[in-house]
Amino acid sequence: MEQLGKNHDGYHGETIDIRAVLRDIESAAQQHGWTPEIFGRQGEFNLLALHRPSTINHQPSTRIYLSAGIHGDEPAGPLAALRLLRENRWPANAEIWFCPCLNPVGFTLNHRENSDGIDLNRDYRQPQTAEVRAHIAWLERQPQFDLYLCLHEDWESHGFYLYEQNPDSQPPLAETIIEAVKNICPIDLSETIEDRPARGGIIRPNLDPNTRPKWAEAFYLIMNKARLGCTLEAPSDFPLPVRVNALVAAVTAVLK
Ligand SMILES: [Zn+2]
Repeated sequence: MEQLGKNHDGYHGETIDIRAVLRDIESAAQQHGWTPEIFGRQGEFNLLALHRPSTINHQPSTRIYLSAGIHGDEPAGPLAALRLLRENRWPANAEIWFCPCLNPVGFTLNHRENSDGIDLNRDYRQPQTAEVRAHIAWLERQPQFDLYLCLHEDWESHGFYLYEQNPDSQPPLAETIIEAVKNICPIDLSETIEDRPARGGIIRPNLDPNTRPKWAEAFYLIMNKARLGCTLEAPSDFPLPVRVNALVAAVTAVLK
Protein backbone atom coordinates (compact mmCIF):
# COMPACT_ATOMS: atom_id res chain seq x y z
CA MET A 1 0.00 0.00 0.00
CA GLU A 2 1.45 3.34 -1.09
CA GLN A 3 1.28 6.62 0.75
CA LEU A 4 -0.83 9.24 -1.05
CA GLY A 5 1.92 11.86 -0.91
CA LYS A 6 -0.63 14.62 -0.26
CA ASN A 7 0.55 15.78 3.15
CA HIS A 8 3.10 18.58 2.97
CA ASP A 9 3.41 20.70 6.12
CA GLY A 10 0.10 19.32 7.35
CA TYR A 11 -2.95 17.28 6.52
CA HIS A 12 -4.28 17.70 2.98
CA GLY A 13 -6.50 14.64 2.67
CA GLU A 14 -10.22 14.16 2.87
CA THR A 15 -12.32 16.15 5.30
CA ILE A 16 -15.63 15.29 6.95
CA ASP A 17 -18.91 17.09 7.62
CA ILE A 18 -18.60 16.96 11.39
CA ARG A 19 -22.21 18.15 11.93
CA ALA A 20 -23.49 15.14 9.97
CA VAL A 21 -21.03 12.76 11.67
CA LEU A 22 -22.10 13.97 15.12
CA ARG A 23 -25.78 13.61 14.22
CA ASP A 24 -25.08 10.04 13.13
CA ILE A 25 -23.07 9.37 16.32
CA GLU A 26 -25.93 10.66 18.49
CA SER A 27 -28.50 8.58 16.66
CA ALA A 28 -26.39 5.37 16.77
CA ALA A 29 -25.78 5.91 20.49
CA GLN A 30 -29.48 6.46 21.12
CA GLN A 31 -30.42 3.40 19.09
CA HIS A 32 -28.08 1.18 21.11
CA GLY A 33 -29.00 2.47 24.55
CA TRP A 34 -26.02 4.66 25.46
CA THR A 35 -26.67 7.41 28.00
CA PRO A 36 -25.56 10.77 26.59
CA GLU A 37 -24.23 13.61 28.71
CA ILE A 38 -23.46 17.08 27.42
CA PHE A 39 -20.52 18.26 29.49
CA GLY A 40 -19.73 21.51 27.74
CA ARG A 41 -20.11 23.72 24.72
CA GLN A 42 -17.70 24.67 21.97
CA GLY A 43 -19.09 27.32 19.62
CA GLU A 44 -22.29 25.94 18.11
CA PHE A 45 -21.54 22.39 19.33
CA ASN A 46 -22.36 20.39 22.41
CA LEU A 47 -19.46 18.42 23.87
CA LEU A 48 -20.79 14.91 24.20
CA ALA A 49 -19.89 12.01 26.48
CA LEU A 50 -21.57 8.62 26.20
CA HIS A 51 -21.85 5.91 28.82
CA ARG A 52 -22.73 2.25 28.48
CA PRO A 53 -22.99 0.01 31.57
CA SER A 54 -21.83 -3.58 31.72
CA THR A 55 -24.70 -5.89 30.83
CA ILE A 56 -23.61 -8.64 33.23
CA ASN A 57 -24.90 -8.18 36.76
CA HIS A 58 -22.98 -9.10 39.91
CA GLN A 59 -19.61 -9.40 38.19
CA PRO A 60 -16.78 -6.95 38.14
CA SER A 61 -16.78 -4.99 34.89
CA THR A 62 -13.79 -3.71 32.92
CA ARG A 63 -13.98 0.08 32.84
CA ILE A 64 -12.85 1.49 29.53
CA TYR A 65 -12.55 5.10 28.44
CA LEU A 66 -12.40 6.00 24.75
CA SER A 67 -11.93 9.39 23.14
CA ALA A 68 -11.56 10.78 19.64
CA GLY A 69 -11.57 14.01 17.72
CA ILE A 70 -9.41 16.28 19.90
CA HIS A 71 -7.48 17.29 16.77
CA GLY A 72 -9.68 18.72 14.01
CA ASP A 73 -7.44 17.56 11.16
CA GLU A 74 -7.73 13.89 12.13
CA PRO A 75 -11.08 12.79 10.67
CA ALA A 76 -10.56 9.02 11.05
CA GLY A 77 -11.12 9.29 14.84
CA PRO A 78 -14.75 10.47 14.84
CA LEU A 79 -15.49 8.19 11.86
CA ALA A 80 -14.09 5.21 13.79
CA ALA A 81 -16.20 6.27 16.80
CA LEU A 82 -19.27 6.26 14.57
CA ARG A 83 -18.42 2.84 13.14
CA LEU A 84 -17.85 1.34 16.60
CA LEU A 85 -21.16 2.74 17.84
CA ARG A 86 -23.04 1.47 14.80
CA GLU A 87 -21.47 -2.00 14.94
CA ASN A 88 -22.31 -2.16 18.64
CA ARG A 89 -20.04 -5.12 19.41
CA TRP A 90 -19.05 -4.36 22.97
CA PRO A 91 -18.08 -7.09 25.45
CA ALA A 92 -20.90 -7.72 27.91
CA ASN A 93 -18.61 -7.20 30.91
CA ALA A 94 -17.28 -3.83 29.71
CA GLU A 95 -18.49 -0.55 31.11
CA ILE A 96 -17.57 2.13 28.62
CA TRP A 97 -17.27 5.90 28.63
CA PHE A 98 -16.86 7.41 25.17
CA CYS A 99 -16.11 11.02 24.19
CA PRO A 100 -16.48 10.74 20.39
CA CYS A 101 -15.40 14.26 19.43
CA LEU A 102 -13.55 16.62 21.79
CA ASN A 103 -12.91 19.41 19.25
CA PRO A 104 -15.82 19.63 16.77
CA VAL A 105 -15.02 23.24 15.83
CA GLY A 106 -11.55 22.10 14.75
CA PHE A 107 -13.17 19.87 12.12
CA THR A 108 -15.15 22.78 10.66
CA LEU A 109 -11.77 24.49 10.13
CA ASN A 110 -9.83 21.31 9.22
CA HIS A 111 -7.17 22.28 11.68
CA ARG A 112 -5.63 20.70 14.74
CA GLU A 113 -6.42 23.41 17.26
CA ASN A 114 -9.59 25.00 18.61
CA SER A 115 -10.97 28.28 17.18
CA ASP A 116 -8.45 30.28 19.26
CA GLY A 117 -5.56 28.32 17.75
CA ILE A 118 -4.86 26.39 20.96
CA ASP A 119 -3.90 22.70 20.77
CA LEU A 120 -6.35 21.20 23.28
CA ASN A 121 -4.15 18.13 23.54
CA ARG A 122 -1.43 20.22 25.19
CA ASP A 123 -3.76 21.88 27.70
CA TYR A 124 -4.31 19.19 30.35
CA ARG A 125 -1.72 20.27 32.92
CA GLN A 126 -3.05 23.68 33.89
CA PRO A 127 -6.00 24.00 31.54
CA GLN A 128 -6.64 27.38 29.97
CA THR A 129 -9.35 26.45 27.47
CA ALA A 130 -13.04 26.16 28.36
CA GLU A 131 -13.25 22.87 26.44
CA VAL A 132 -10.50 21.12 28.41
CA ARG A 133 -11.70 22.55 31.72
CA ALA A 134 -15.17 21.15 31.00
CA HIS A 135 -13.69 17.81 29.94
CA ILE A 136 -11.56 17.50 33.07
CA ALA A 137 -14.53 18.46 35.26
CA TRP A 138 -16.49 15.64 33.60
CA LEU A 139 -13.59 13.17 33.96
CA GLU A 140 -13.33 14.02 37.66
CA ARG A 141 -16.95 12.94 38.11
CA GLN A 142 -16.26 9.48 36.62
CA PRO A 143 -14.75 6.49 38.44
CA GLN A 144 -11.22 5.23 37.79
CA PHE A 145 -10.84 3.44 34.46
CA ASP A 146 -9.03 0.14 33.91
CA LEU A 147 -7.75 1.38 30.58
CA TYR A 148 -8.06 4.18 28.08
CA LEU A 149 -7.67 4.48 24.31
CA CYS A 150 -7.26 7.86 22.59
CA LEU A 151 -7.86 7.83 18.82
CA HIS A 152 -5.56 10.04 16.74
CA GLU A 153 -3.91 10.42 13.35
CA ASP A 154 -0.47 11.64 12.31
CA TRP A 155 -0.05 13.39 8.96
CA GLU A 156 3.72 12.75 8.86
CA SER A 157 3.93 9.08 9.76
CA HIS A 158 4.72 6.26 7.34
CA GLY A 159 2.30 3.88 8.96
CA PHE A 160 0.23 3.17 12.06
CA TYR A 161 1.91 3.45 15.44
CA LEU A 162 0.93 3.90 19.07
CA TYR A 163 2.06 5.13 22.45
CA GLU A 164 1.53 2.81 25.39
CA GLN A 165 1.58 4.12 28.97
CA ASN A 166 1.84 1.28 31.44
CA PRO A 167 3.55 2.44 34.65
CA ASP A 168 2.68 -0.72 36.64
CA SER A 169 3.93 -3.13 33.95
CA GLN A 170 0.51 -4.70 33.49
CA PRO A 171 0.06 -7.14 30.60
CA PRO A 172 0.61 -4.78 27.66
CA LEU A 173 -1.91 -3.90 24.96
CA ALA A 174 0.51 -2.61 22.34
CA GLU A 175 1.64 -5.84 20.68
CA THR A 176 -1.93 -7.14 20.42
CA ILE A 177 -2.98 -3.91 18.73
CA ILE A 178 -0.09 -3.92 16.25
CA GLU A 179 -0.83 -7.58 15.38
CA ALA A 180 -4.45 -6.68 14.63
CA VAL A 181 -3.66 -3.56 12.61
CA LYS A 182 -0.75 -4.82 10.53
CA ASN A 183 -3.00 -6.77 8.17
CA ILE A 184 -5.04 -3.64 7.45
CA CYS A 185 -2.56 -0.80 7.33
CA PRO A 186 1.24 -0.48 7.18
CA ILE A 187 2.98 -0.11 10.55
CA ASP A 188 5.54 2.70 10.95
CA LEU A 189 8.74 0.77 11.72
CA SER A 190 10.92 3.87 12.14
CA GLU A 191 13.34 3.72 15.06
CA THR A 192 12.42 7.28 16.01
CA ILE A 193 8.89 8.67 15.81
CA GLU A 194 8.01 12.19 16.99
CA ASP A 195 11.51 12.41 18.50
CA ARG A 196 10.93 9.36 20.69
CA PRO A 197 12.51 5.91 20.39
CA ALA A 198 10.09 3.48 18.76
CA ARG A 199 10.16 -0.24 18.09
CA GLY A 200 7.79 -2.11 15.79
CA GLY A 201 5.38 0.85 15.79
CA ILE A 202 5.33 1.05 19.60
CA ILE A 203 6.49 4.04 21.69
CA ARG A 204 6.73 3.62 25.45
CA PRO A 205 7.25 7.19 26.60
CA ASN A 206 8.94 8.46 29.73
CA LEU A 207 6.21 9.05 32.33
CA ASP A 208 8.05 11.55 34.51
CA PRO A 209 5.68 14.55 34.74
CA ASN A 210 8.65 16.87 35.19
CA THR A 211 9.69 16.13 31.61
CA ARG A 212 6.28 17.33 30.40
CA PRO A 213 5.61 21.04 30.58
CA LYS A 214 2.41 20.50 28.60
CA TRP A 215 0.12 17.56 29.20
CA ALA A 216 -1.81 15.69 26.54
CA GLU A 217 -5.16 14.15 27.43
CA ALA A 218 -3.46 10.72 27.69
CA PHE A 219 -0.91 12.05 30.17
CA TYR A 220 -3.69 13.55 32.32
CA LEU A 221 -5.42 10.16 32.18
CA ILE A 222 -2.34 8.19 33.27
CA MET A 223 -1.67 10.64 36.11
CA ASN A 224 -5.28 10.78 37.33
CA LYS A 225 -7.70 8.24 35.90
CA ALA A 226 -6.12 5.03 34.60
CA ARG A 227 -2.90 3.00 34.94
CA LEU A 228 -2.87 1.58 31.44
CA GLY A 229 -3.72 2.91 28.02
CA CYS A 230 -2.72 3.69 24.48
CA THR A 231 -2.79 6.62 22.11
CA LEU A 232 -3.48 5.22 18.65
CA GLU A 233 -2.01 7.04 15.64
CA ALA A 234 -3.37 6.22 12.20
CA PRO A 235 -1.25 7.51 9.28
CA SER A 236 -3.27 10.23 7.57
CA ASP A 237 -1.30 10.11 4.31
CA PHE A 238 -3.15 6.87 3.52
CA PRO A 239 -6.75 6.59 2.27
CA LEU A 240 -9.34 7.55 4.88
CA PRO A 241 -11.16 4.16 4.88
CA VAL A 242 -7.85 2.39 5.65
CA ARG A 243 -7.26 4.67 8.65
CA VAL A 244 -10.78 4.18 9.97
CA ASN A 245 -10.40 0.40 9.60
CA ALA A 246 -7.06 0.56 11.42
CA LEU A 247 -8.48 2.47 14.40
CA VAL A 248 -11.56 0.23 14.59
CA ALA A 249 -9.36 -2.89 14.46
CA ALA A 250 -7.13 -1.50 17.21
CA VAL A 251 -10.04 -0.77 19.55
CA THR A 252 -11.68 -4.10 18.74
CA ALA A 253 -8.43 -5.96 19.50
CA VAL A 254 -8.30 -4.40 22.98
CA LEU A 255 -11.98 -5.08 23.68
CA LYS A 256 -11.45 -8.77 22.95
ZN1 LIG B 1 -3.82 13.94 17.20
